[in-house]
Amino acid sequence: MKFNFLKRKKIGIGTQIFLGFGIFTALVILLIWIFQITLLNSFYKFIKEQEIKSTAQYIENQYTSDNLTAVLEDVVLNYNTDVLIATEFGETVISATSMKSTFFNRISSTQLMSMYAQTKASGGEFLESYTIWDFSQGIGGDAFLGNAPLQENSSLPEGLVFLKTITLSDDTNLLLLLSTTVTPVDSTVETLKFQLYSLTALMILLGLSVAIFISRKISKPIVQITQGAKELSKGNYEISFDVKGGGHEILALSQTLNVAAKELNTVESLRKELIANVSHDLRTPLTMISGYAEVMRDIPGENTAENIQIIIDEATRLKNLVNDLLDISKLESGTQTLIMEPVNLTESIKKILLRYDKLVDYNFDFYHGDDVYVMGDDLKLTQVIYNLVNNAVTYTGPDKRIVLTQSVIDDNITIKVEDSGIGIPKDKLKNIWQRYYKVEKEHKRAQIGTGLGLSIVSQILDLHGGTYGVISEEGSGSCFWFTLKALDYND
Ligand code: ADP
Repeated sequence: MKFNFLKRKKIGIGTQIFLGFGIFTALVILLIWIFQITLLNSFYKFIKEQEIKSTAQYIENQYTSDNLTAVLEDVVLNYNTDVLIATEFGETVISATSMKSTFFNRISSTQLMSMYAQTKASGGEFLESYTIWDFSQGIGGDAFLGNAPLQENSSLPEGLVFLKTITLSDDTNLLLLLSTTVTPVDSTVETLKFQLYSLTALMILLGLSVAIFISRKISKPIVQITQGAKELSKGNYEISFDVKGGGHEILALSQTLNVAAKELNTVESLRKELIANVSHDLRTPLTMISGYAEVMRDIPGENTAENIQIIIDEATRLKNLVNDLLDISKLESGTQTLIMEPVNLTESIKKILLRYDKLVDYNFDFYHGDDVYVMGDDLKLTQVIYNLVNNAVTYTGPDKRIVLTQSVIDDNITIKVEDSGIGIPKDKLKNIWQRYYKVEKEHKRAQIGTGLGLSIVSQILDLHGGTYGVISEEGSGSCFWFTLKALDYND
C-alpha cells in the first residue's frame, strides 16, 4: 500500500507549534510596545489629571479641619503639587509651594479674581495642561481660561493646573488652585525604549528557545508513534509504542496503538493457526473420503454400507467445518441478520436432544417446567444449544451424562448444559470464547471441531442481548449457561 498522503508537503506539527508560539511572542512584544510607547502619554496624563482632581477634593474636605497645614505640607511634599487658596476677591488665604516653585508669587489678585469668576462660569472646576511658554502668555488672562486657545502641545505637557471653587458653610467662596509639574514623558519614553529593546531581544531569545523546546517535546513522540504505525502497517505486529513525554493524550494514543498492535498480533497468530487447523481438518476427512472411495472402486466386495457411511460422516464433518467458518465470518462482519420471532425454547431443546437418540450409551436429562418463549432467531438459538450440547457430549466423563436445566427467575430464562467431564483449567476459562481457541490442541483437534463453536455461541447470544458464562472445575466437569429475556406477551 502506498501512503500518498505522507508524500504531500505539509508543515509538521513541530513547525506549526513553533510558528504559533513565534506569532504569539511577536504579538505580545507588539502590544507592549504600543502600550508603553504610543499610549504612555495619554495614560500618564490621565493618571495625573485624576490625581490632581482627587488632591483638590482631599484639600476641600480637610479645609475646615485643624490639620489643614499638615495636609497641605503632605500635598506639596508627597504629590509635588503647589496649592494656593484665595477668596473670590483675589486675596490669597494660604499658599503652599515647594521652594523651587515661584509662579504663584507672580499671580496678581486681579488675576485670581478673574480666575475665580471664569472657573465658576465653567461649572466650578477647570483643568488645563500648559507649557511654560503658554503659561507666561496666558495665566490669569483670557488666553489661559480658554477664550483664546492655548498653544497646546499635548505630547509635551510640562504642567497641569486645576482650579476649583469652594463654598464654605458660612457662604465664603474660595478659589482652590493646584499646580503640578508633569515629568517630561519624553525622557521616560527614552528609558522605556531602551528597556524595551533589551526586553524584546530577551523575549525573542526566550520565545525561540521555549518554542523549540515545546515543539520538539510534542512532535518527538508523535514522530515516534508515526514511525511505529508505519512499521505496524508493514505487518510488524511485534512493535511496541513506548513513547515518553507528550502529555496524557499522546500516552493514551500510544497505549491504544499498543492494544491494537497486540490485537493484530493475536489475530495474525490465530490466522496462521486457523490455516494450519483448517488445512489439517480439511485434509483428514478428504483423505478418508478419497481413500474409502478408491478402495470401494478398486476392491470388489468393499462397496459396503459401512464404508459408504464413513464417507457420508466425513463429508458431514467437512460440511460442518465449512458451515462454522461461514457462520463466524458472517457474524464477525456484522452481515448476519436475525429473523426475530417468538421461539419456544423448551421445545427447541427437546428437538435438539432427539438428534442424539442414536447415541444410546449417553444419558441426556432435561429438567424444565412449563414451556418458555423468547424473542429470537430460532435457527441461531438452536445452533447455540446444539454447540453447547455437542461440546458436553465431546468432553463429558465416563458416566456419559449430560444434564440440561431450564429455570425462570422473574422474566429471565436460564438454560444450563452440564457435563461431568474433564472440565476447563481456570486460566483458560476466559479464552474459550475466542475464535479458534482450543484448550488441548494436541489431543482433541483431530476428533473434535474447529474451535469456533463457543465463539459462534457468544456472538449469537450477544446479538440476542443475552448473557452467558461457564462454571467449570478441572476434572469434575463444566456447566455452560446462558440467560435470555422471556417473551412478554403484553408486548
Ligand atoms: P471446539 O469446536 O473445538 O469444541 P469450541 O469453541 O466449542 O471449539 O470450544 C473451545 C474449547 O473449549 C474446546 O476446544 C475445549 O477445549 C473447551 N471446551 C468447550 N466445551 C467444553 C466442555 N464442555 N468441557 C470441557 N472443555 C470444553
